[in-house]
Amino acid sequence: MDEPLIERMRQYGETIFAEMTRLAVETESVNLGQGFPDTDGPRSLLEGASRNILAGVNQYPPGPGRPELRDAVSRYRARHYGLEFDPEAEVYVTVGATAGIAASMLALVEAGDEVIVFEPMYDSYAATISLAGGVRRPVTLRRESLSGRFTFDPAELRAAVTPRTRLIMVNSPHNPTGTVFTPAELEEIAAVCRENDLIAVTDEVYEFLTFDDRRHVPLATLPGMRERTLSISSVGKTFAVTAWKTGWVTGPEPLVRAVRTVNQFLTFSANGALQLAIADALDNEGEWIERQRLALQGKRDRLAEGLTRAGFEVNVCEGTYFLMTDIRPLGYADGVDVARALPRQAGVAAVPAKVFYDRQDEGRHLLRFAFCKKDEVLDEAVRRLASWHGWVN
Ligand SMILES: *Cc1c(COP(=O)(O)O)cnc(C)c1O
Repeated sequence: MDEPLIERMRQYGETIFAEMTRLAVETESVNLGQGFPDTDGPRSLLEGASRNILAGVNQYPPGPGRPELRDAVSRYRARHYGLEFDPEAEVYVTVGATAGIAASMLALVEAGDEVIVFEPMYDSYAATISLAGGVRRPVTLRRESLSGRFTFDPAELRAAVTPRTRLIMVNSPHNPTGTVFTPAELEEIAAVCRENDLIAVTDEVYEFLTFDDRRHVPLATLPGMRERTLSISSVGKTFAVTAWKTGWVTGPEPLVRAVRTVNQFLTFSANGALQLAIADALDNEGEWIERQRLALQGKRDRLAEGLTRAGFEVNVCEGTYFLMTDIRPLGYADGVDVARALPRQAGVAAVPAKVFYDRQDEGRHLLRFAFCKKDEVLDEAVRRLASWHGWVN
C-alpha cells in the first residue's frame, strides 16, 4: 500500500522522545528526558478522585465540563489575575492542554493562514498547525548574553507578521527555555496583536511554577488583550498529575465557542470524576502549590549546580520543569549526538532541544534536562554525568 498518512503530517514520524525513552529503558538510565514528576499530587486531590469514582461519578459529564470545575477555573483566574470569565460561556474543559491546543488550531486557523510561534516550541504546536493546514512563522528565542535568559528580538517578531497572519501562539512560562515573559515582553506581543488584529492563543500550563521573584502574567491581562486571547492551562503540571489530562480554555465567548464547536467532535467531554476533584484542589490547595513551587525551585538549583560541575553551561531558568544547557563547553556541537550517546555512556537520558526548532541550527548545541524528580534521582544523574568522560560518535 502507498503511504496512507496525509501528506502534510508525514514529517511527524516517531519523535525523538519515543526514541530517548526506549534508550533510557534499555540502558536503565536516569531519565531526565520527559517532564513528569516522580512524586504524587496533593492527597486530597487523589482521594477526591477515588471517592468520586466509587460514588458513581462515572458517566459522561456535560460536554463543556462539570459546572463545579468551570466555576473553580473562573474563580482562580479572578483571584490570581483579576480576569473575570463567565463560567457558562467563557470557560471550557478539554482533555488536557493538548486537546485545547489542537481544538484551538483546528477551530481558528484556516488553510493557508500563518501562525507566529516562538521557537523552541512545544512539539504539539507544529503538528496541530500543520493538521489545520496552517503555516508556521517561527520567531526564535535566543540567549541574551548579559542576563543569560532566552528572549526574542521585537523587530524579528514584527517582521514575522504578514497579511496572512491569523494568530500568535505564546507559551509562558516557556518549555523548554524556562523563560517567564516579563510585562515589557508581553506588551511587545500585545502591541503586535492589537495593531494587526491578531488572535493570541496562550499555553499557561506552568502558570504556578515560577521561581525567585518572577510572577506569571497572563497575556489576557494586558490592555486590549482580553477580547482577543484564548488562554489554555491544565491540571497536570501544577498538581503533579500529568496522567490526568484535564485542561481548560478561557477567553471571550466567540473564541471559546469556536473551540467548543470543534472539540465536541474530537473528544466530546473529559473525565468527570477527576474534574470534580480538580475543582476542589483549585479552591483549597493553594498552600500545596506554594510548597511545590519552592521544592521545584530547590531542585532547579540542585540540578543546575550539579550540571555546572559536570561541565555544562546552564542557562537561567525562571519557571517550568526544565533546564536548558549548552554542551559546547564540553567540546561537543550537536545535542542529538550527545543525547543518543548519553544513556549508554553515562546512564542518563536528556532531550536534544534541536527538535523544538524549525531553524534547527539555532538549537543544535542545546540539551534539555527535567528537574521535577526526587533529589536522590537528580544527585545520581549528576554523579553519573560528572564521571562521564564520554566519547560521542
Ligand atoms: C506538558 C505540556 C502540555 C500538555 O499538557 P496536558 O495537560 O498534559 O495535555 C502543553 N504545553 C506545554 C508547554 C507542556 O509542557
